[in-house]
Amino acid sequence: MAYQQRCVSCKKTMVLVPSRWQKPLCTKCEMGDLDQEIEDPAWKKFFAIDPALYEKSSFLRSIKRSYLNRGMLTDKQREMFLKVVAEGAQGPPPRKRAAKAGDGTGAAG
Ligand SMILES: [Zn+2]
Repeated sequence: MAYQQRCVSCKKTMVLVPSRWQKPLCTKCEMGDLDQEIEDPAWKKFFAIDPALYEKSSFLRSIKRSYLNRGMLTDKQREMFLKVVAEGAQGPPPRKRAAKAGDGTGAAG
């Protein structure tokens, strides 16, 4: 169940949040939020990707946010970040094992 709420930062844009308890923040504000100076040159280079990719992928934003919060990333996070960037930010890697019921007959044409 997703909820539509007003962005807490600009208070203009409506944002769809997955749960009532998540802070609604629109992409634009989140991008501004993430636009912080990274001191470590290696990490700075790591995150210096096309900003359009961040706009496109909430996954990439969440990784950067994670770094900004903790000052580090796990090997797994680094790996997934590079993978998603290499794939042109197609989105978070598929890891849900969605068991869809009632998807029997596909109506094609
Ligand atoms: Zn906003």
